[in-house]
Amino acid sequence: MRHAARLLPILVLAGLIALPVCAQTAPPPASIPRLDAIGTAPSAANIERDIRTLVGFGTRHTLSDTKSSTRGIGAARRWIFDEFTRISKACGGCLEVRYSSGIVQGEPRIPGPVDVVSVIAIQRGSADPNRYVIMSGDIDSRVTDVMNATSDSPGANDNASGVAGTLEAARILSKQRFPGSIVYAALSGEEQGLYGGKILAEQAKKEGWRIVGVLNNDMIGNSAGINGVVDNTTARVFAEGTRATETPEEARQRRFTGGEVDSPTRNLARYIERMATHVPNLDVMMVYRLDRFARGGHHRPFNDLGYPAVRVMETNEHYDRQHQDLRTETDAQGRRRVYGDTIDGVDFDYAAKLTALNAVSLAALATAPPPPAKVSIEGAVSADTTLKWARPDPEQAPNLAGYKVYWRLTTEPRWTHSRWVGDVGAYTLENIVIDNYFFGVAAVATDGSESPVVFPGAAGSFGDY
Ligand SMILES: [Zn+2]
Repeated sequence: MRHAARLLPILVLAGLIALPVCAQTAPPPASIPRLDAIGTAPSAANIERDIRTLVGFGTRHTLSDTKSSTRGIGAARRWIFDEFTRISKACGGCLEVRYSSGIVQGEPRIPGPVDVVSVIAIQRGSADPNRYVIMSGDIDSRVTDVMNATSDSPGANDNASGVAGTLEAARILSKQRFPGSIVYAALSGEEQGLYGGKILAEQAKKEGWRIVGVLNNDMIGNSAGINGVVDNTTARVFAEGTRATETPEEARQRRFTGGEVDSPTRNLARYIERMATHVPNLDVMMVYRLDRFARGGHHRPFNDLGYPAVRVMETNEHYDRQHQDLRTETDAQGRRRVYGDTIDGVDFDYAAKLTALNAVSLAALATAPPPPAKVSIEGAVSADTTLKWARPDPEQAPNLAGYKVYWRLTTEPRWTHSRWVGDVGAYTLENIVIDNYFFGVAAVATDGSESPVVFPGAAGSFGDY
C-alpha cells in the first residue's frame, strides 16, 4: 500500500505531462447518464391507459369496420394517428405523422381488396436525417378464426402492448433531439400475413432509407408463462443468422472468413443486450433465431430486404391468451380454463421495462455516429490483424469521437474485448492472430454512445453511408 501511495503522485504527474499529446485520442466517457434517465422514464400508467383505449375498440382485426368512430381497425388507427399528433404538438411539431398504406388482395387471409393502413411518426434527425432506427408494434388483433373480423378481439397483449410501448417511447424521446432519425410505427395486417411491415419496408427501400435497426415489439406485457414461470426481469430479443439476401458468392466468401453468427441483426441484438444495463432489473435473453420456432413477426419483412431487425418480446408466453375466442372451458376434472387476450393478463410495469429497453436502444443508436461502412480485415499468415473502414461525411456525424475495435473468441456469444483506437480509418492489433478470433469495429460519439459493432465484409455490413 505504502509503495502504491508513493507512486501515485508520479503517475498523476506523468498523466498531466502526457495530457496535451493524448487529449485528441482520449476515449469518450464510459457511462452515459442520459441513458440511465431514459431507462426509468416509461410510465406503466400511460401504457395501461393506452392498452385500455386500444382494447376499447372491440376488435382491431385487419378486415374489421373502418368507418365507425368507436369500433374496429379504422377507429383504432385514427386514434393512434391523433395520439402521435398530440405527442408532436407537445414537442413543437417534432414528429412527422403519416399513414403508410397499400391495397392487399388475392391472399389467403386477405381475399380483399383491403387497404392495409399503418401509422408512422418520424422524429427527423438533425445531422443525418436519412439514417433511421425504427420501433414498431402491431395494431391488429385476432381470435381463433383468423378470418373472424367481428367478434370481440381485445388483443391486449398481442399486440396493444407493443403499440402502447411505441407511443410511450415517442413521448419520452420526443423531448430530446438526435443526429439520426427515429421512426415510431404502429403496423397493421400482421396477423393476416405481415403486410404492414412489408409495405413499410418496401417504401423504405424505395426511398433509400439507411436503416440501422428495427426493434419490432410483439407481445411485451405477459410475465406469467404457460409453463408456470413468473418472470418480470427478462426480455427476449430474437435475431436471425445469415441475412436472407446473401448472394451465393457472399456465402462462399463467408465460408472461408466467417460471419455466420455476425449478421448486422445479430450485432443489433448484442447491442440491445448491452443496453439493458440502463434498465433496472432487466436482462436480455438473446435468441439466435429469426423468431419463435416456425412463427412470424413484423421484423421479418425488414430482414427479407436485408435490413437489421429483431423481435423484442416477453420471455414467457401464455398461449391461452393468444389468438383465442373469449371463453371459459371446464375440463374433465372440473377445472376452469379461461381463454382470451384480455387486459387482466397484462403486466404494465413489465411492459414499461421492455419499453425502456427499446427507448435506451433507440436513443443510443440515434445519437451514435453511423455504423462503420466498408469494413475489411486482413492478417492471414501474420502475427497481426488489421481492420480498415471508411469514415462518414463529417456532416453526417458531427459528434464522431472515433472508433473502438472489438474481438472475441469464435465460440463466445458476445463481444468480450475492445480497444479504443481514436479517430482513424484503420487499426492494427499487434500479435493478435486473425485465425483465433472474430473482429469488428464500432463508431463512438463524443458522449460515449456507440454504433453497433460491424463485422467485416458483406456478412456483417450495415450498409454504406
Ligand atoms: Zn398474434
